Amino acid sequence: MARKPFIAGNWKMNTTPAEAKALAEGVVGQLKGFAAADVALCPPFVCLETVRGAVQGSPVLLGAQNIHWEASGAYTGEVSAAMLKAVGCQVAIVGHSERRQFFGETDESVRKRLGAALAAGLQAIVCVGETLAEREGGQTKAVVERQVRAALQGLEPAAAERLTVAYEPVWAIGTGRVATPAQAQEVHAQIRGLLAERFGGGAAGAIRIQYGGSVKPDNAKELLGQPDIDGALVGGASLKAGDFVAIVKAAG
Ligand code: PEP
Repeated sequence: MARKPFIAGNWKMNTTPAEAKALAEGVVGQLKGFAAADVALCPPFVCLETVRGAVQGSPVLLGAQNIHWEASGAYTGEVSAAMLKAVGCQVAIVGHSERRQFFGETDESVRKRLGAALAAGLQAIVCVGETLAEREGGQTKAVVERQVRAALQGLEPAAAERLTVAYEPVWAIGTGRVATPAQAQEVHAQIRGLLAERFGGGAAGAIRIQYGGSVKPDNAKELLGQPDIDGALVGGASLKAGDFVAIVKAAG
């Protein structure tokens, strides 16, 4: 089954609205006429409005870095699906390892966030991946299986159409230490198998699985050439329009 590559830029806690506008305009301008991959930009919440303006009229999707499961209420610092949709978001990242590591995100809260994003009609990118200690302890498969199973619990099969899974080994994020294509492919194939168990082979064959962790223009092609690597979630390199666009073009 041919899957259209999907490259998303996670800008993390970087850019003011003015910087975000310039970066998004750079990406959109350099991708004019390019349709071989789906692309999303995920700026900080306060930049969504300006980035929306910059991507309007282009195929580039607008994404958020997090989402809360409740519609509204006393949840200081959180943002709901309805709020994200109102500012034009089409995509939400959930369960990023930085959220799990630094902000107490658990398998259970990730499941709730994912469910809310998909139920609202958003595309969702759910992140999974092992720490260095877990990899060195031979726990990679068990950790990824636990995270994937927990995230997908209770999901309607129809929601799988808007689901993307990002395999992001924690030891490769922001470290410059990238998983080898073979290491990444092995885990991607495992994730595809878990998706097939959950949703059936046909649906699993259509779900994109992104790799994330120090993806750069010079390593993107080889990673994206693996049979079960269908795109990338890009952190650091997404902050330079030229580098991000080079990664996108490596997918197409
Ligand atoms: C990420 O933030 O999801 C990520 C993979 O970061 P980096 O590309 O900087 O490793």
